[in-house]
Amino acid sequence: MPGEFQLIQQFFQREQAEQPAEGVLLGIGDDCALLQMPIGKQLAVSVDTLVAGVHFPLDADAELIAERALRTNLSDLAAMGADPLWFTLALTLPEANEEWLRNFSRGLFACAREYKIALIGGDTTSGPLTITIQVMGTIAPGTAMRRDGANIGDFILVTYNLGDGAAALAVIQDRIYCDESSAGYLHERFYRPVPRLQESALIRGLATAALDISDGLVADLQHICDASDVGAIIDVENLPLSSAVQSLNNPTQALEWALSGGDDYELCFTVAPEKMADVAMLIAQGKLNATVIGEIVPGNKVICEYEGEPFTLANTGYQHF
Ligand code: ADP
Ligand code: MG
Repeated sequence: MPGEFQLIQQFFQREQAEQPAEGVLLGIGDDCALLQMPIGKQLAVSVDTLVAGVHFPLDADAELIAERALRTNLSDLAAMGADPLWFTLALTLPEANEEWLRNFSRGLFACAREYKIALIGGDTTSGPLTITIQVMGTIAPGTAMRRDGANIGDFILVTYNLGDGAAALAVIQDRIYCDESSAGYLHERFYRPVPRLQESALIRGLATAALDISDGLVADLQHICDASDVGAIIDVENLPLSSAVQSLNNPTQALEWALSGGDDYELCFTVAPEKMADVAMLIAQGKLNATVIGEIVPGNKVICEYEGEPFTLANTGYQHF
C-alpha cells in the first residue's frame, strides 16, 4: 500500500523501539523477527481477526478498536495460563489515514505497555478494515489449562460477571437504553475487556480445564464438554450479573445474555472437589473474583437448570456462519 513503509516506521517501529521487549533479538523492520525463548518455557500461540462491521461497529474509534483487538487476544493467553510476551499485527486498511493510524497506535501501545507485550512485526495491506493480531506467550511445561481436563464431579466457575458483552452491544447499537453510569461501564466492558491474566496465574495450578468466554457460556462450555468427554449442568440462578445488567430490568433477557450473549472474555474453568477449598480461600481473601455456576456430570451436553428445574433458551450461542 502507498506510503506503507513510512507509516509503519512512524506509528509502529518507532513507537515499539521505546518499549521494553524481552527476548527480541531483532524486531520490526527486517524480513522476520528473531526471538529468544526464555530457557525451559513453552510457547503458547493464538491468532484472532476482527472485521469492521462484524466484530466492532464501522464507526468505532481507532484507539478503541486497537484496545479491543489486543485485549481479546490477550484473553486467549489468560485462558491457557500463559504469560504475554510478543505479538504481530496484520492490518488491512481502506486508506492510509494518518490520523486513524495515530489513534490506533496510541490505543495499541497503551495496552501493550499495560500487559508487557511487545510488537515484533506484521503486515499492512489495503482493503476493508480488518485487524489480525497473533499473540505469543510463555508457559511452564505441563501447566497449560487445556479444554480436555475436566472430570465428572468438578465444579464449574466463571470470573466476574456474564452478560455484559451482549448488553454493551445492545446499548452501543441503540437497541436498548440505560442510565449514564451503566452505559459508561458497559462501553468499557465492550471496548476494553480486561484479560484475566491475574486470575489465570492464580488458578493455573488448581483448574482441570479452562477457556475464555467469547461466543457465550453455553457454547463455550460445550467445547470443554466435547474435549473432556463429559456433560455439564449450569445452575442458572447462580450466574453472576453486573449491577448494570441487573438495572436494565429485564431478568429473562439478562439470563439469555449471560448464557449465550458472547463477548464477555471472562474465564470459565473447572476445579476438582479436592482443590475447591484452595479456590474458595482465594475467593474469600478477595484475591479471586469467581463464582461457582455448576458441575461437570456424566453425558456430553451442557444442560441449564433453574433451581433444579430444566431451563431452556431460544438461542444458545453466536454462530459465525
Ligand atoms: P515484507 O514484504 O518482507 O513482508 P513488509 O513491507 O510487509 O515486508 O514489512 C516490513 C517490516 O515491517 C517487517 O519487519 C514487518 O514485520 C513490519 N510490519 C509491516 N506491517 C506492520 C504492522 N502493521 N505492524 C507491525 N509491523 C509491521
Ligand atoms: Mg509483508
